[in-house]
Amino acid sequence: MPLPRHEKGDDKNARGAVLVAGGCVEVPGAVLLAGLAALQAGAGRLQLAVCRSIAVPVGVAVPEARVIGLAETEQGHIAAAAAPVLAQRGARARAMVLGVGTMAGAESEALTAQLLEALEGPALVLDAGALAALRGCRPALRRHAGRAILTPHDGEMAELLEIPRTAVLADPLAAAREAASRFQAVVVMKGGCTRIVTPQGEAWECDRGNVGLATSGSGDTLAGILAGLLARGATPLQAALWGVYVHGEAGRRLAADQGPVGFLARMLPGEVPAILAALG
Ligand code: AMP
Ligand code: MG
Repeated sequence: MPLPRHEKGDDKNARGAVLVAGGCVEVPGAVLLAGLAALQAGAGRLQLAVCRSIAVPVGVAVPEARVIGLAETEQGHIAAAAAPVLAQRGARARAMVLGVGTMAGAESEALTAQLLEALEGPALVLDAGALAALRGCRPALRRHAGRAILTPHDGEMAELLEIPRTAVLADPLAAAREAASRFQAVVVMKGGCTRIVTPQGEAWECDRGNVGLATSGSGDTLAGILAGLLARGATPLQAALWGVYVHGEAGRRLAADQGPVGFLARMLPGEVPAILAALG
């Protein structure tokens, strides 16, 4: 399954736009990590949609991005009222990351449900707070069947399936298969060994990563890599398989260079272009 190639004369639109929606006043940097990873995986354009009070600092931190300031709650989270604007902006992107830097809660559930109901078009990467919201919006997610990737770690998987975390850990592959079938999406079940499972139950494992990847923000960069590959035209399965490999390989390269632990998630995106180039 080769990755999409690009022609000499292509402009940035040919490699697609990524919209990353997420973050909150307490976690403003997650969208930055995902956005940089999407660009370094080759996406042509980047938009970051965040709650209004963090829009300017986020935009200054990522000069490559266009920033959309959204309605926010008193607690500094994106408000459900932002769903129509997000759906409108999302329709112009080829891939959208939803949920990085957000937490489970009623507002996030309402936002996710309303957005999935209204959104037309882009491939989706659902992570963090957006995953917790999915339990309540299975019918809306079905509208995006064949276009979505879910990226839970074991705790998020337990919440998604409403089973104990110990049950997920006892049989991660079974949990991933159940989620992929139930939500009709490619599931990337993250961990020391990451499982990639299709709605039909086909499964792959990748243990290319290393313990240094168990660091704050690491999953946000994976979500961004996946979106970057989707924007370039990869299918959800291609993006999941290649994206997980590339993220693991980035961890290996940083571990070789810096030491096994202590490299930062923000260093991962910088490794991605060379890894992709080496894949040919
Ligand atoms: P998150 O918990 O969302 O930040 O995601 C953590 C990322 O690091 C996922 O891509 C995991 O697969 C990866 N990861 C976590 N622990 C390990 C480990 N021990 N070995 C390899 N990869 C890991
Ligand atoms: Mg995470």
